[in-house]
Amino acid sequence: MKTATLKILIIDDSPEDRAEMRRMLLAGSETRYRFIEAELGAEGLRICRDSGDGLPDVVLLDFHLPDMNAADVLAELRNGADLPPCPVVVLTGSDQESGPDLLRAGAQDYLGKSWTTVESLTRAVENSIERFALVSERTRSAERLREREHFLQRLTDVSPSIIVVFDLVEKRCVFVNRTVASVLGYSPEEIAAMGGNVVPMLMHPEDLARFPAHLERVRMLRNDETADFEHRTRDRTGEWHWFHNRDAVFARDATGAVCQLIGTAIEITERKQAEEALRESDERYRTATAAVSDLMWTNNADGLMEGEQRGWGDFTGQSRDEYQGYGWSNAVHPDDAQPTIEEWTRAVAEKRTFVFEHRVRRHDSEWRVCSARAVPILNADGTIREWVGVHTDITERKRDEARLRKLSADLSDADRRKDEFLATLAHELRNPLAPIRNGLQLLKMPGVQPAAVEQVRSMMERQLTHMVRLIDDLMDVSHITRGKLQLRKEHVPLAAVLESALETIRPLVEQAGQELTVTLPQQPLMVDADATRLAQVFQNLLHNAAKYSDRGGHIQLNVEVQERDVMVTVKDAGIGIAADQLPHIFEMFTQVDRSLEMVRGGLGVGLTLVKRLVEMHGGRVEAMSEGLGRGSEFVVRLPIVVEASNPHESGGAAEHPVTSSFRILVVDDNRDSADSLSEMLKMTGNDTRTAYDGQAGVDVAGEFRPDVILLDIGLPKLNGYEACRRIRNEPWGQRIVLIAVTGWGQDEDRRRSHEAGFDRHLVKPVDPQALMTILAGIDVAKP
Ligand code: ADP
Repeated sequence: MKTATLKILIIDDSPEDRAEMRRMLLAGSETRYRFIEAELGAEGLRICRDSGDGLPDVVLLDFHLPDMNAADVLAELRNGADLPPCPVVVLTGSDQESGPDLLRAGAQDYLGKSWTTVESLTRAVENSIERFALVSERTRSAERLREREHFLQRLTDVSPSIIVVFDLVEKRCVFVNRTVASVLGYSPEEIAAMGGNVVPMLMHPEDLARFPAHLERVRMLRNDETADFEHRTRDRTGEWHWFHNRDAVFARDATGAVCQLIGTAIEITERKQAEEALRESDERYRTATAAVSDLMWTNNADGLMEGEQRGWGDFTGQSRDEYQGYGWSNAVHPDDAQPTIEEWTRAVAEKRTFVFEHRVRRHDSEWRVCSARAVPILNADGTIREWVGVHTDITERKRDEARLRKLSADLSDADRRKDEFLATLAHELRNPLAPIRNGLQLLKMPGVQPAAVEQVRSMMERQLTHMVRLIDDLMDVSHITRGKLQLRKEHVPLAAVLESALETIRPLVEQAGQELTVTLPQQPLMVDADATRLAQVFQNLLHNAAKYSDRGGHIQLNVEVQERDVMVTVKDAGIGIAADQLPHIFEMFTQVDRSLEMVRGGLGVGLTLVKRLVEMHGGRVEAMSEGLGRGSEFVVRLPIVVEASNPHESGGAAEHPVTSSFRILVVDDNRDSADSLSEMLKMTGNDTRTAYDGQAGVDVAGEFRPDVILLDIGLPKLNGYEACRRIRNEPWGQRIVLIAVTGWGQDEDRRRSHEAGFDRHLVKPVDPQALMTILAGIDVAKP
């Protein structure tokens, strides 16, 4: 037994009983005791409370005390706790006191006073000390457990994540904390009630499909490992929430297989939405960049290219190693590389947008013009995080721009020339009118001499011829440019063509006191040509040579054979052409010096006509001049027809006026025109009548029965075509020679008049000689 002294408090109002207890204890063992005694309950309680040198090891408590009984003392001692602060053994006086009640009230043992012996008291004291130690230890453990439980309860309740214990066998939640209610709107009880349906009911189908694999991973876990799983779960309102689960092993069955897991689920909806928004914005940004540019790249804060730059690599064909740092500049055109690097370093140093245009060698080695642009991306603190740049291939755009610029320049040039032309045209058409008007005035004057009349007449004829020529040229050029002119080609001797041109030009040359030398080769040269049109070519060239030479100048016409071509050169010693003008001389409406032209006359279409006509004949024309004042030379090169053919008579030799005696009706709403023509025809021996509209024309024809009708087309009341048809429908109209007289001489007009029943087609103003020739021709055919 212990050697320590036991402190025993005896609470009993009987001194004999206290002495008896002391004696029995001292006799019962070798234990040393220190006895403290109290007669009343209150006194015993005070001793316990105030015990400065520690509580008694055992209290021996008499049941009946004068101030209170043992149950009251015990209650006071416990003071609300399960146990009194020290072991208490109650000594009961009678059997009425219930021992078990005393034990429940906190006593460790009880003894009847009457049957107390040395042994029973000593054992009761020793046992109560043992039992008290045991019971207080158990009470403390239970207390600690309650505290732990409380702690865990509080912890799970305040946790922001859902904590769950999930049974892998029954597939249900064994435990879930209160947080689930605030997140999903279901109470833990409702979750528990869902049983094995909880996961299929709440988890997103796509994630549900991945869930078994996650459980498999959990089954493989060691006790200190965790497995993560992200999923969407539906809340009470049907809305989806993203969760991040971290699960660990909670329990294993007898075989060691995992049967329950414990996990936390943290809501990550906002993070997922932010991620999704970021991904979308990134995608939008990439798509937008791809839409407006050909490639995108990034450089680090210092302006060095780093890492993988797929766009740049794909475009240039440079490898990753090649474009690192400033390596990209090797794909930039050598002339542009240095300026690019300089501008780039400046932009990086000044942290401002980089804008540049340069040539970049594409992977197929083609140089492409690119527009480059880069901006710095800043960190929150304003420092540069990186540079993002784009390159846009603008090669095509540049090409189109250049094309457009040229087109617009050409157009405005053509426009300017057209304006100048209109001014010239007005001027050119008015020029001959003034002398004609003067002439008319002169003729009206009384007593004018026949010699003067003749002079005026020939002056007026000259002016008129000039005007007709201008208008003919214009009509021809417009015809050619619209592709409407058709050549009537045949094999003709070149000499005849040239002769016809020379014939018309000679009077002009003579008048200007110029000298004209013609050199032709011996052998006859045949060309495949429309004789009239080709004559027009040389006529124009010779006309220019005379026009742009001074009085007394020398003009040469040379013909030379060169292999299978013939070269016709028209050379003058006149004003010459400046070198910068030579390339444009054949363009429509070109005139070298307008002020000069005003003096010399012309519309600037003659050479255009020459060039087109020569080309239509399979030839070429070239202008040469050593400069202003050094004369000009025009060379026409034409293919020769080699096959020897019989010399062909070139048409066009003018005949002298002949007389005829027909009955002729002239129909024209321009009375002057009708009357003067009628007068002229009368003077050459014909019987004539006039009418001034279509209907009158038909009527007069019915009465007069003419042999020939000269019928204008644009007539009031009945137009020329219609009048012609009516006349043709009359029995007397069949044999009449109907000649259309119109302002329009194009093929289309000729076809129409032919269809209407006309025999011939003359273009206004009618050339009297041509008319005489026609009349001479019908002399026999139609009496
Ligand atoms: P134009 O009716 O003005 O003569 P052309 O088309 O025949 O028109 O000629 C165009 C321009 O070429 C003329 O205005 C003139 O400046 C120049 N030119 C043509 N032929 C000669 C020439 N033989 N000598 C000098 N300049 C010429």
